[in-house]
Amino acid sequence: MKCPKCADESLERVKIRETEVDRCPRCCGLWFDENELRTLLGIEPSELRSLETQTVYPSHNSKPSECPRDGDRLLRVMSRRNRVVVMDVCPSCRGIWLDGGEIQLLTAQQ
Ligand SMILES: [Zn+2]
Ligand SMILES: [Zn+2]
Repeated sequence: MKCPKCADESLERVKIRETEVDRCPRCCGLWFDENELRTLLGIEPSELRSLETQTVYPSHNSKPSECPRDGDRLLRVMSRRNRVVVMDVCPSCRGIWLDGGEIQLLTAQQ
């Protein structure tokens, strides 16, 4: 799958417990299939350290993008966990894209 924010960057798989998420090696954005984000936010925040990053591209947050799975236009949705975080959600497959640095804003709320 290609990164929805970087042109021509392939996502690499990262395994956390039984869940495999997809991460962009350039912008450190993360793709979660339906329910994967919820599953991961339910485990110890310390186990998510490998997903955290200092790499942040502020311009990516508002960049219109398409689902890496099905090409549908992603919708911008404010997280109920932390309103600073605007997620990109696919209306078709319910996958969620988090830009680099957003995962720690969600886990910090716990
Ligand atoms: Zn990227
Ligand atoms: Zn999709």
